[in-house]
Amino acid sequence: MKHLIDPTDLTREETDQIVDLALEIIDHREDWQEKMAHRKLSTLFYEPSTRTRLSFTAAMMELGGNVLGFADAANSSVSKGETVQDTVRVVSSFVDIIAMRHYIEGAQLYASEVSPVPIINAGDGSHSHPTQTLTDLLTIRRELGHIDGITIGFCGDLRFGRTVHSLIKALARYKDVKVILIAPEALKLPDYIRRDVCDKMQIDYREVETMEEVMPELDILYMTRVQKERFLDEDEFDRVKDSFRLDCEKLSKAKTHMAVLHPLPRVNEILPEVDNDPRAAYFRQVENGKFVRMALIVKLLEWKNDPAHGMPQDDIPIYNPHAKCTNPKCICASEAAAHKFRRSTGGELRCWYCDAKVK
Ligand SMILES: [Zn+2]
Repeated sequence: MKHLIDPTDLTREETDQIVDLALEIIDHREDWQEKMAHRKLSTLFYEPSTRTRLSFTAAMMELGGNVLGFADAANSSVSKGETVQDTVRVVSSFVDIIAMRHYIEGAQLYASEVSPVPIINAGDGSHSHPTQTLTDLLTIRRELGHIDGITIGFCGDLRFGRTVHSLIKALARYKDVKVILIAPEALKLPDYIRRDVCDKMQIDYREVETMEEVMPELDILYMTRVQKERFLDEDEFDRVKDSFRLDCEKLSKAKTHMAVLHPLPRVNEILPEVDNDPRAAYFRQVENGKFVRMALIVKLLEWKNDPAHGMPQDDIPIYNPHAKCTNPKCICASEAAAHKFRRSTGGELRCWYCDAKVK
């Protein structure tokens, strides 16, 4: 069975099939209205995220299916101390597919080990949010018609922005993609992403400090939220804040077909004056999120009993009762998960569930 816990659970071919189906649904919406009739999606949201939950709900409803679940763990049996594995065992007897959001890293992967129905990770802590990555890929396809050969600039918080890390990983599977990283020193891409993703997957990338110097080259400008709290020093924030703020003047140097993406919500990285420019694609991106979730639900249920679509087998877990994950935000810290690990490319032991390095 195929779950979607991390974007890399999907092969490049499976990813393309989902994006292609989303494009097909957009063109022939009426053909899909009954596709999920009598089927049910459960939205288990242990952490509130109205936007993502509504997107899943709208997706299932547009397919003619039903949705049940909770929006906040405080109102469910979870508050009585039930484990995520037990909750999933119970809920899966009522529904065909589950979308789960959790503040604990690895919770969905742990839940998927016992689930008889596909689980979609709708965000776990600051770890992974694969449906955002699919949304971004669909948006690039809709805006440009292709993904191979594009030049994409990532601007803003590249250090903590998980959507950026996931999208870079996904883009590495396409041909001749050029990545330009635009960030102040404090928010640069972390070394482990540079090493484990950019270098290992041989991504063509370079780093610059301002968007002006690269604007004319870009096909996609991917903006992310910059939070003042990320800076140790307020003067540093004030010094660099304008260099990652998009206005019409900066946009005037861009290609006419360039598209501006942002996972939203924005703070003030994109001035409202940009919204009326045809290149502002971030509200179209939100709608794409619904279409890609429709395609994902259809495909995961289609693949459910097909042995050709399983989970990736590249990693075989290492069981070690003496090693322990010490990440306090990991599922291992709150539930009795097995002592499961993987060996990274650098040779170190990493937690199976949250990827944290194990000492
Ligand atoms: Zn862990």
